Amino acid sequence: MDIREQLINACGADYVSFDEPMSKHTTFRVGGNADYYIRVSSLDQFVNGIRLLKDNDISITILGNGSNVLVSDKGIRGAVFELGKDFSDVSINRLEDNIEVKAEAGALLSNVGATLLKEGIKGFHWASGIPGSVGGAVYMNAGAYGGEIKDILKEATVLTKDLNVEVRDLDSLDLSYRHSALMSEEAYVLSATFVLEEGDSKEIKALTDELNKKRRDKQPLEYPSAGSTFKRPEGYFAGKLIEDSGLKGFRVGGASVSSKHCGFVVNDQNATAADIYNLTEEVIKIVKDKFGVTLEREIRLIGEF
Ligand SMILES: Cc1cc2nc3c(=O)[nH]c(=O)nc-3n(C[C@H](O)[C@H](O)[C@H](O)COP(=O)(O)OP(=O)(O)OC[C@H]3O[C@@H](n4cnc5c(N)ncnc54)[C@H](O)[C@@H]3O)c2cc1C
Repeated sequence: MDIREQLINACGADYVSFDEPMSKHTTFRVGGNADYYIRVSSLDQFVNGIRLLKDNDISITILGNGSNVLVSDKGIRGAVFELGKDFSDVSINRLEDNIEVKAEAGALLSNVGATLLKEGIKGFHWASGIPGSVGGAVYMNAGAYGGEIKDILKEATVLTKDLNVEVRDLDSLDLSYRHSALMSEEAYVLSATFVLEEGDSKEIKALTDELNKKRRDKQPLEYPSAGSTFKRPEGYFAGKLIEDSGLKGFRVGGASVSSKHCGFVVNDQNATAADIYNLTEEVIKIVKDKFGVTLEREIRLIGEF
């Protein structure tokens, strides 16, 4: 049996595709094909698929909502596992002093936020507007408007390199600004448990609406992007450095530095991944020449550049 058939047997025909265009699965709307694409639907299915691919020395990439990645035009050799809507249960455990909310890795932060709003559980409103999954948010230690995953996370359940399921406490995940220990491990987030509090739905809604309005006002949400392209350098703001370097609207091919928010690179004219990559290279070079500050990409590069 060839590997395609074996993969279908291991993961289910409904969840497996081949030569899948990654432009369909990334918010930049660019990226070539992945050889194998598997939507995760259960732990067993995930483990079976990974075991098969590892036994065949096929490389593995994990994706959540694809909102912080730039996938090469050449695509991804090997397999991509998407932890998305088929792996997105959320459960709520009201304890005496607080509330524990456990969400599977594929749950979108917006959906978790909507559930918590309905339940009158506070402490998550800042995350609801981030267009990522729970797994991606833990991996990146996502944050916004003064909140960060590390402030509300109790623990994460991960699948280790050796295919064991392990509960990792907050300390062992080593979360800091857009960083987690998972970046240097081959371990995948299966679920996360957040510690939150009883709140008032009306107040939570008002806070969520206010932050979403701020996003709409300040961010170029009308174009495909991956949010802030660069990390905030110590003591500076990436967007301001870029603007002060005269790069507002600066363009390479179909990609440009947003005129609305210079921290965002946008795909506003049918960009290729190479356009976006080359634009970020230029921006890094020009900001370095002008201010001596080396910008680092926040977005994760996948494939060959
Ligand atoms: C318009 C816009 C606004 C944004 N605003 C913010 C913001 O305010 N704050 C912020 O922090 N980010 C922001 N982002 C970036 C992005 O949404 C976050 O980084 C988000 O946490 C990424 O989640 P994801 O599921 O899309 O991850 P993906 O893009 O799919 O993956 C990102 C990285 O995480 C890894 N990964 C994904 N899932 C798992 C898993 N289950 N286990 C292990 N590794 C995994 C991937 O391999 C990849 O390296 C924004 C993006 C956009 C497009």
